[in-house]
Amino acid sequence: MAETIGFIGTGIMGQPMAANLLAKGYAVTVYNRSADKAKTLTEQGARAAATPKEVGQRAKVVILMLTGPEAINAILHGPDGLLAGMAKNGVVVNMSTVSPAYSKELAAQLNQQGLTFIDAPVSGSKKPAEEGALVILASGPQEVVTALEPVFLAMGKKVVSCGAAGNGSAMKMTVNLLLGAMMAGLSEAVAFGQQCGLDAETVLDTILAGPLGCGLYTLKAEMLRTDRFPAQFPLKHMDKDLGFVLETAAAHQAKVPLAETIHALYQQGMAMGLGDLDFAAVKKVLTSA
Ligand code: NAP
Repeated sequence: MAETIGFIGTGIMGQPMAANLLAKGYAVTVYNRSADKAKTLTEQGARAAATPKEVGQRAKVVILMLTGPEAINAILHGPDGLLAGMAKNGVVVNMSTVSPAYSKELAAQLNQQGLTFIDAPVSGSKKPAEEGALVILASGPQEVVTALEPVFLAMGKKVVSCGAAGNGSAMKMTVNLLLGAMMAGLSEAVAFGQQCGLDAETVLDTILAGPLGCGLYTLKAEMLRTDRFPAQFPLKHMDKDLGFVLETAAAHQAKVPLAETIHALYQQGMAMGLGDLDFAAVKKVLTSA
């Protein structure tokens, strides 16, 4: 019989990730706070659980793909929480983006309860999640990371072993600092070009044709051309992640002046009500009156 994987959090990322586990033959038990968002997966063969506790009772390995620490704490604790259902020796794999400090705290807390914690955030957005092409930034006991490789490779194209729990999240902060800066940079350049009288289409074609053309810019070009920003990676998540970057930088006395500047831009986006749009909507901050 196929191994059962528990999957909690079937939003933009979790839904296609869990679908890829099903496609690779795993039995998947899913839970999502808003039950309707797990419906597509149950139609594809996943079993729905009524509570996080029930997921823990059915699966030894449980993956979390939730907004962040607040959501994770809500799922773990309480009489119907995941921890109430998991047997000793279970493995909790957090693939949500959180800070390294939170990951380390969670590892210590779960270890005390006889559980193993794997900190495994992902690089890649909605499309790579759909295509099973995520890069998994895995950290925690290496033998468990190695044993989980087939599960990770059902959802991703590469597993990077980052060391002790917390390092996967540190790698994710590193990647998202660059991601936030690249997106803000492209948005500012396109907005600047338009304000100089150029059209967005020509500016984007010029950038994409030269050495600055890259996968991210190709993926986001249509949004900047049309000024329509359906969420692939919501701006509110980039705002959250840059908050973690600044918190982590302060703990390590790392200089991150660019992170401070772009965090202020994404925060302005939040204040303008752009949180549920794609983070490319940071362009609207730069073109607002
Ligand atoms: P999303 O679509 O907003 O999904 C968030 C999930 O968290 C939903 O299942 C939501 O449940 C659940 N949730 C939120 N607050 C909760 C609470 N208090 N209690 C229980 N459940 C709660 O987000 P996403 O884009 O899939 O992102 C998930 C994680 O992956 C985030 O940490 C994000 O930073 C990271 N990530 C995202 C991308 C991307 O491109 N989207 C890429 C890499 C990493 P409901 O459905 O009930 O609201």
